[in-house]
Amino acid sequence: MSNKKDYYEMLGVNRNASEDEIKKAYRKLALQHHPDRNPGDKQAEEKFKEVSEAYQVLSDAQKRSQYDQFGHAAFGDSGPFAGGFDFTSGFEDVFGDIFGEFFGGGTARRRSRGRGEDLRYNLTLSFEQAVSGTETKIKIPRHGACETCHGSGAKPGTTSQTCATCRGRGQVSFQQGFFSVSRTCGQCHGQGTVIKDPCATCAGAGRVRKMHTLSVKIPPGVDTGSRLKLRGEGEMGPAGGTPGDLYVVLQVEPHPIFVRDNLDILCDVPISLVQAALGAEIDVPTLDGKVKMKIPPGTQSGKVFRMKGRGVRDVQGYHQGDQHVRVTVETPTHLTARQKELLKEFAALGSEDVNPLSKGFFDKVKELFG
Ligand SMILES: [Zn+2]
Ligand SMILES: [Zn+2]
Repeated sequence: MSNKKDYYEMLGVNRNASEDEIKKAYRKLALQHHPDRNPGDKQAEEKFKEVSEAYQVLSDAQKRSQYDQFGHAAFGDSGPFAGGFDFTSGFEDVFGDIFGEFFGGGTARRRSRGRGEDLRYNLTLSFEQAVSGTETKIKIPRHGACETCHGSGAKPGTTSQTCATCRGRGQVSFQQGFFSVSRTCGQCHGQGTVIKDPCATCAGAGRVRKMHTLSVKIPPGVDTGSRLKLRGEGEMGPAGGTPGDLYVVLQVEPHPIFVRDNLDILCDVPISLVQAALGAEIDVPTLDGKVKMKIPPGTQSGKVFRMKGRGVRDVQGYHQGDQHVRVTVETPTHLTARQKELLKEFAALGSEDVNPLSKGFFDKVKELFG
């Protein structure tokens, strides 16, 4: 144990190297010394073994800290990790992308791990649909079991046979020095069976890509960015595996008069000069239709009125937002001669006392500038 080289030295990294640096260093050395690239070269094989062992320890935070503390003793017969190294775990993660060919076909191996891929579907809803909820049908292109062979991949009337190379295990092991290395069987791509007469429809894959129509229930209260998870509606899994999930990501279209702010609704409503001055009862559009709202006399432009409980109900149904109505006082245009006359008459009655904002403003100006 004591004459063993230091793991950090083996990988050529310093003791506080990041996870990423360790991974990079290992990748480089392993590629260089991989037995498949150096057939019959004992030294390369030895080196490959060493760097792999070093990586096994340093890439695992727990093992690394044990190693930092106890050195190689941590992995001796009585150490916390006694029992040697398992080369099958973590190995494919580093090499999946680069080493595909060395380990017998990247995609097939990944599929054989047991779960179909997750899918994403972007769904656009109208403002009202998002607020009130809806049920809609979506079409997604997805793999499904081949109907000709019912997913077996074998020509109808024939069956698949146990793979002779791996005897149905899906994995083959080979000895590398004193390490036993397992990899996915290249013959059956980990399935454990081979098809002698492939199905003509799916070319032996057992699955075909087709359009699936799904009914999706959208709960009331969703908003842009809401994500619905439909468990098991993703890509079909490999034989015996579980399917992935489908994520429906929502986008809500803008509304011509309502603006949504989480559960609240904002709405601008114009009122006339006279309504603002004398007060009025106006019709305000809400999510539930028109609702009467009182405008008190002397309302200023920009004033916001809150209509409690007229907003959006949240997805759980516990809370409901409010509607905020902002009134804008309109200045009349295209006045007739008579209307102008009346306004001038009105102004002549003295405007100081009836214009609270101006009064306050000009008082301040007077204070500042004399
Ligand atoms: Zn096999
Ligand atoms: Zn088929």
